[in-house]
Amino acid sequence: MKSRFMAAVCAAVVALSLGVQAQGKGGAASITPAELKDWLSYIASDQLQGRQVYTEGLGLAASYIADHLKEWNVKPAGDDGTYFQVVKVNGVNVTRNSSVTVTVNGQTKTFKDGEGVTFPANAGGKQTVSGQAEFVGYGLSLPEAGIDDYKGRDVSGKVVLYVGRGPKSMPAGGNRLLGARARNAIELSHAVAAIGPSIGGGFGRGAGAGTPAATATPATTATPTPTAAQPAAGRGAAGGGRGGANATLGDFTTVQRLDNKIPPQITAGDEFFDFIFSAAGQKYADIKAKADSQDAIPAVALNNVSITINVDADYTIVQTRLTRNVVGIVEGSDPKLKDTYVLFGAHYDHIGYQQTPPGQGRGGFGGGNAPGGCTGQQRDTPKAGDVINNGADDDGSGTVGVMAIAKAFATGPKPKRSVMFVWHAGEEAGLLGSRYMADYPEVPLDKVSAQLNIDMIGRNRCDEASEANTVYLVGSDRISTELHNLNEDANAALAAPMKLDYEFNDPADPESIYTRSDHYSYASKGIPIIFYTTGLHRDYHYVTDEVGKIEFSKLAHIAQLVYTTGVKVANLDHFPARDNKGPRKGKGASGKIGS
Ligand SMILES: [Zn+2]
Repeated sequence: MKSRFMAAVCAAVVALSLGVQAQGKGGAASITPAELKDWLSYIASDQLQGRQVYTEGLGLAASYIADHLKEWNVKPAGDDGTYFQVVKVNGVNVTRNSSVTVTVNGQTKTFKDGEGVTFPANAGGKQTVSGQAEFVGYGLSLPEAGIDDYKGRDVSGKVVLYVGRGPKSMPAGGNRLLGARARNAIELSHAVAAIGPSIGGGFGRGAGAGTPAATATPATTATPTPTAAQPAAGRGAAGGGRGGANATLGDFTTVQRLDNKIPPQITAGDEFFDFIFSAAGQKYADIKAKADSQDAIPAVALNNVSITINVDADYTIVQTRLTRNVVGIVEGSDPKLKDTYVLFGAHYDHIGYQQTPPGQGRGGFGGGNAPGGCTGQQRDTPKAGDVINNGADDDGSGTVGVMAIAKAFATGPKPKRSVMFVWHAGEEAGLLGSRYMADYPEVPLDKVSAQLNIDMIGRNRCDEASEANTVYLVGSDRISTELHNLNEDANAALAAPMKLDYEFNDPADPESIYTRSDHYSYASKGIPIIFYTTGLHRDYHYVTDEVGKIEFSKLAHIAQLVYTTGVKVANLDHFPARDNKGPRKGKGASGKIGS
């Protein structure tokens, strides 16, 4: 550990002397592989113990970033004139008074939370949501797999209902797709609420936008087993305890405002569905039998079925744990536009060190097959006694990438708008830092034109040499077509354009990456985002994700792309138009989107 630290210090001294030339020039040219390597050699060193939230290692990383911001004269944008925004992670107890009232042909029945229907522990603020009921079979839209329960349906403004675990033809990664049904119904198809089955294992259960535990972050789950059914606090146990707080306190854990109105995502039992179908001319028992055997489910029109959802939960905060985002701003040059912002983000936390011997551990210490569809590959063999998840790629690469972008702006030409940099804490524990920032922003969210997020940009997907010039983009087209096109233009303007791959932007992609990193916290607030990643590899969430494996020229290249896109957005005289047309670029797609 010590020798590694000394190496980092030596590298720092060398790079400092090299850095003098770049200093003062700023701009894209100041983003260099040598400097990125210098910074990452510290950020991903054993000294930082894997940068787990609530640990000293994360604190060291925060100070390291802040010290550099100060050196470059980046303005502090955290609490009380500091570079730090304190993130409050609350354990919350809930008193459930919510209910669902169904009217079928004039006959009304009310189901209380816990009696036939189940609301997520964090159901959000009090509200009443009503709509006509629309049955969408298995509730899946996977055209590439020949499954499209939404074909020919307009569920906008309606309450969507679905059953079962999908047909026999479900593609691999089905659990995530099932878990995403409610969210997709609301976000992609504009339903006002979603009601699904209560299946053992809890697919989609508790998947309210406000429950970190329900969000399928890669986090501490090496397997895609849904964790939504367990209380949020149960998951916090993986990351907590050292702060002196009891990680299991509370029905759920959240960093978000408790009065946020969250579109209801509810599960329901047989009695509820029986009543829903009571006048449909199709018995629920028959539909259920077909769902149980994963056969095709007939289309059923639910005429004259209306649903009113009364979200009514009372919350009591029973404990608070603290972590920190690191935040800085470089002010824009235009007197009018400088109170508007382009945000750049990465998470600087990771999953810490292994607390159990190999083979017994949580979070990817099991070895064996490589994750992320790297077919035929095995986990790399760790050095004897190595228990530290260095997170060089995840997300050390993004951490230093955003540092380089901050430096490029701070020491180079200033765009019209201001640019804000956020190093998020606790992403691995459920997007804690970004969710907090999105609910308690340091600048008004309506002044934010776009957010550009980086998570894992230092490798080739599955270590394939053919990936050397590829970066994957997710979400660029979903909220703003214009933002998508600006990024394509920025890439074309690079000395050597990269291959922009949209495979993970496909809503049917089993990894559901759009919802899995910090950009999603901002997208949920309607802010156009782009997520940049180079994809998974055999060292993902493993002690072998180390600095020696990082492709620093590629990292610099992608940081330059993000910087260049940021410059374009920051110099635009308007915000990228929010046309909310959803994902259009998917696997095999490329280029701009025509008007
Ligand atoms: Zn990450």
